[in-house]
Amino acid sequence: MQIEERVITKAILQSYYRKLSSSLETQVAIVGGGPSGLTAAYFLAKEGVKVSIFERKLSLGGGMWGGGMMFNQIVVQRAGREILEEFGVCTEEFSPGYWVADAVEAVSTICSKTVKAGAKIFNLICAEDVTIKEGKATGLVLNWTAVEAAGLHVDPLCIETNYIVDATGHPARVAQVIQRKLALKIPSQRPIGEGPMWAEAGEKAVLENTQEVYPGVFVTGMAANAVFGAPRMGPIFGGMLLSGRRAAELIQEGLNSGL
Ligand SMILES: Cc1cc2nc3c(=O)[nH]c(=O)nc-3n(C[C@H](O)[C@H](O)[C@H](O)COP(=O)(O)OP(=O)(O)OC[C@H]3O[C@@H](n4cnc5c(N)ncnc54)[C@H](O)[C@@H]3O)c2cc1C
Repeated sequence: MQIEERVITKAILQSYYRKLSSSLETQVAIVGGGPSGLTAAYFLAKEGVKVSIFERKLSLGGGMWGGGMMFNQIVVQRAGREILEEFGVCTEEFSPGYWVADAVEAVSTICSKTVKAGAKIFNLICAEDVTIKEGKATGLVLNWTAVEAAGLHVDPLCIETNYIVDATGHPARVAQVIQRKLALKIPSQRPIGEGPMWAEAGEKAVLENTQEVYPGVFVTGMAANAVFGAPRMGPIFGGMLLSGRRAAELIQEGLNSGL
């Protein structure tokens, strides 16, 4: 049998088109494929929720690949380890209460489990805005990262969703856009950005801050602490995983109650 370039091209175009067009209306659209976004997507997809991730970079995993200062090992506490175990990532106890895992194994396994759970992942796509109707976020405004990087004058496209999750890490891109154009549901309208390092307080705060900050928009991971100005926690990744699972639980409650 001959291998024809035309058929290869058609296979890519048609299968990608099917994947994208089936995601034009989704229940949850996650912006950012770092540890918190991937974990939220995994727990939602596992429960049969229709979920898509839009990631601006070529590779998924966000800041997890680099461990701490490019030493590619990650540290988690007991509760975080439970989530790594759910994914099937090997951990080793370093000292009582602290476990280490290989960052490459963690990212690649979490990615694989998330896709196999049914989440649709679109890399190289950037969320640049949201659609808001009658005081609720109803969709994402998307463009190719390459268009953004080249500064091309090209209009974006849109998808519809019941919930958006801002899992964009430190910049909290979705929350930034809403804060700039409207107002977030947080007590004080402070500039977005997390506070100084305090591992214990940061890990605790990231769970409390995983919440709906505008109707239809949840924040998770570092974005949650950035929005509320909570401490950064340094290279301990349990909070990112736990925050992703918490976002999935809260959204599931919303979907179940028909909101
Ligand atoms: C300056 C700096 C400080 C750090 N400090 C800490 C710290 O204090 N504590 C800590 O635990 N870790 C820290 N890290 C490491 C790391 O960022 C986080 O631990 C962890 O990876 C955050 O997980 P996350 O899921 O919240 O977001 P990230 O891992 O940052 O993932 C966010 C993802 O969103 C994507 N994204 C961003 N904007 C868009 C968009 N508009 N559309 C689509 N995709 C988008 C990004 O490409 C990225 O892949 C730091 C990293 C940096 C660069």
